[in-house]
Amino acid sequence: MRIFQNLHDKGPINFLAAFRRGDFDGTKALLEKGSSWMMDEIKASHLRGRGGAGFPTGQKWSVLPHDSGKPIYLVVNADESEPGTCKDREILRYEPFKLIEGILLAAFAIGAHTAYIYVRGEFEKETVILERALEEVYTHGFLGKNPPKTGWSLDIHIHPGAGAYICGEETALLESLEGKRGMPRLKPPFPGQYGLYGCPTVVNNVETLAVVPTILRRGAAWFQSLGTKESTGTKLFCLTGHVNTPCVVEERMGIPLKELIEKHGGGVRGGWDNLLAVIPGGSSVPMIPKDIATQVTMDFESLQAVQSGLGTGAVIVMDRSTDLVKVIARLARFYKDESCGQCAPCREGTGWMWRILERMAMGQARVEDIDMLLDLTHAIEGHTICALGDAAAWPIQGLVRHFRPHIQERIQRYGRQLGARE
Ligand code: SF4
Repeated sequence: MRIFQNLHDKGPINFLAAFRRGDFDGTKALLEKGSSWMMDEIKASHLRGRGGAGFPTGQKWSVLPHDSGKPIYLVVNADESEPGTCKDREILRYEPFKLIEGILLAAFAIGAHTAYIYVRGEFEKETVILERALEEVYTHGFLGKNPPKTGWSLDIHIHPGAGAYICGEETALLESLEGKRGMPRLKPPFPGQYGLYGCPTVVNNVETLAVVPTILRRGAAWFQSLGTKESTGTKLFCLTGHVNTPCVVEERMGIPLKELIEKHGGGVRGGWDNLLAVIPGGSSVPMIPKDIATQVTMDFESLQAVQSGLGTGAVIVMDRSTDLVKVIARLARFYKDESCGQCAPCREGTGWMWRILERMAMGQARVEDIDMLLDLTHAIEGHTICALGDAAAWPIQGLVRHFRPHIQERIQRYGRQLGARE
């Protein structure tokens, strides 16, 4: 069932070893089936982007204008920087050939002859691995001008970023790739119409592209048979925090969260009853308390129904020793630091939210500050150019939604301690 055979670094990372694991096997035959067939298969598989937003990949590929007279670009978003998320890193380290083959097939499907991989600045080791892998693929005749083993001319360039979280936002990434400051663009126009250098561009996440070759080999029906109706296939999940065995693992979509944590994470530290809360999809989605975590399944629709999200599939487990206010204050500081400052609600609001949370964490807040904080999140949510504003607001909303009595009790306890000292 698994797509990623070498995710846990069990085998060598070179072209021949990857070929033995199935990569680049019959690539030319796939290309000979044509771009329309490829597009139809990806649409039929219902593959949704693995970068967090979950947009249907086939739909993204199919909206490009082919009569604009401009070149079409494929850009790979390898700027993985969300706290808790470390799945694309594992692909770059241990499965780079799967990604490169995915880029080749996707580029053929959309009609691109140039692709860029934008890699997170801190991924220095991963960039070297990727460069070596790319060199090998060129040497084996799968890339370049009229490559003998595919016939599709494609050049892939690797571009290291400078370590800014906001460059993971697709339009900020394009700005950065063009040599400008990494600041999100106003949309529309979307990259499909006006992307890199003003040309039609598809921006896809690393994991999204890395699963494309296997879907095309095994068929859309196979992929669809895994997972749920709206969340098909398998997904890489990152298990971190208070689990006994933190890991990155591939599992079917729709797996119960509890099963995922117990089967692959070795269970919660101190047992399931010691669980306090879980952030199920990376730091920007709202946390859920233990009673919801016990029931929920890991797919887009189920997590949305409990007012959280699948996001990147990064599961952060927090046991009863966790100070949730401090956790969210720490995340708030991250978003404040990473805001590009372009729009006022985000620039001013992220700092304001962080300062209130810091006061709460230090026991210097009032109970009324909880509602002021919540109002602030609503003033930011949906009122910014990009989703960083939402990402900063949602974790706080999750905290207040599920743990308001806990925050109140915490404020009152600090108040009593202060009174006793005076
Ligand atoms: Fe920049 Fe924040 Fe506005 Fe996004 S929401 S454009 S990060 S200021």
